[in-house]
Amino acid sequence: LSSEEFCVFQEKLFRFPGFYVQRRSIRQYQSPYAALVLGDIGEVSPADVEEDEYYQNGDFIGKQGVERSYEKQLRGEKGIQILLRDARGRIKGRYMDGKLDTKTVPGKNLTLGLDLELQALGERLMEGKLGSIVAIEPSTGEVLCMVSSPTYDPRMMVGRQRGKNHLALSRNPLKPLLNRSIMGQYPPGSTFKTTQALTFLQEGIITPETAYPCYHGFIYRGLKVGCHGHAAPAKLVPAIGTSCNAYFCWGLYYMFGNRTKYKNVQEAMTVWKDYMVSMGFGYKLGIDLPGEKRGLIPNAPFYDKAYRGSWNGLTVISISIGQGEVNATPLQIANLGATIANRGYFITPHVVKQIQDEQIDTLYTRRRYTKVEARHYETVVQGMRRAVLAGTCRKANIPGIEVCGKTGTAQNRGHDHSVFMGFAPMNDPKIAIAVYVENGGWGADYGVPLGALMMEQYLNGKLSPESEKLAEMYQQRHIGYGTADR
Ligand SMILES: [Zn+2]
Repeated sequence: LSSEEFCVFQEKLFRFPGFYVQRRSIRQYQSPYAALVLGDIGEVSPADVEEDEYYQNGDFIGKQGVERSYEKQLRGEKGIQILLRDARGRIKGRYMDGKLDTKTVPGKNLTLGLDLELQALGERLMEGKLGSIVAIEPSTGEVLCMVSSPTYDPRMMVGRQRGKNHLALSRNPLKPLLNRSIMGQYPPGSTFKTTQALTFLQEGIITPETAYPCYHGFIYRGLKVGCHGHAAPAKLVPAIGTSCNAYFCWGLYYMFGNRTKYKNVQEAMTVWKDYMVSMGFGYKLGIDLPGEKRGLIPNAPFYDKAYRGSWNGLTVISISIGQGEVNATPLQIANLGATIANRGYFITPHVVKQIQDEQIDTLYTRRRYTKVEARHYETVVQGMRRAVLAGTCRKANIPGIEVCGKTGTAQNRGHDHSVFMGFAPMNDPKIAIAVYVENGGWGADYGVPLGALMMEQYLNGKLSPESEKLAEMYQQRHIGYGTADR
């Protein structure tokens, strides 16, 4: 009831014996951002009541986001007040002077790691586009922003309008209720080449000095993976900088065919897969939000089944450039950026950084090391720096800040997806980021400039006047469909 409705009702209440007014807490939002992270509350389902005796019909429970994953902390404890009523239902006082009553314990305060201004900018930039932006603080694993587009205003989910609004959002074909940052599974494209460089270095397949003579692609036994024009032969650092397809296709082919190191292709594949898993791919990372998807890292049995045991490095060559069967969530791609920033470890990404009177789970404080040594990460960092200075990421160059980045252009049935993964500053990383714009074309079209604006906002606390103009331009540039539902 609105307060006006309540006043009218209050005056007439005496005419409705048995009815009374009960106060209930509802959510209030100061800003229209981060709806999918915060989540919402709604009435319990019969299953909720069945599962947990805390709930009764009509109670509220967290349905999505932090509201759901931290429901136990947020709900507190119910108090009990036993009241005496007369035959007409009118309250006559407290039963036994309140001796059997119990006190209400309020829910705990949670503190999120989100930077609200960064989140706001990300949501602006993603207007009229499908996709996601995730930023992580590498040293802590705290999520600095998690944008999924389209999104909605969290205030739509409060009060009597919730049912109607929720229904409309759930029927929207652009799926504004889907948190693409953790539920969208996409080909990581060329951002994935960094994982290949690390694996080949650690396995001794290549050294940073290994050069590959790419002349417009990897061409072998009738198979061709094209590449754009760049100086060749290229060593590893420039190969990352120019995002050479041939270098990484050749690396995978050479690794999977190495019979002195691996007894057969299956064994090589298993070794390869274990590297990917150690870098946070193929399984859920374990973020403190419901609904996270695991992405896909294929393994040997997968291909044995698909090709009836007859396959080799060439058959699966596209996994080396983040295509083919490989899939990842934007969160996993951002986490890759954080891992490279940290030179070899990550802390499980999490949105809640503090719980009142309670420690956060050690999962969110522990370092998880990959199978690759720090010195090899250093080479990849140089490659990502090269990409920004002289390669595919030049639009990510922010004056005064050493940015490292990697573009991705992920092939898709329709128009390509535009991807960026990066971190900054190079030697004291404060932010790692993934930008994924569905059907956005080349990585440099959307991924790189959006990623650069986000890093500038976070590191400088604001955008320069020129960057603000750019931000407005990207905000108004919509891809293929109307304005995001806001
Ligand atoms: Zn090339």
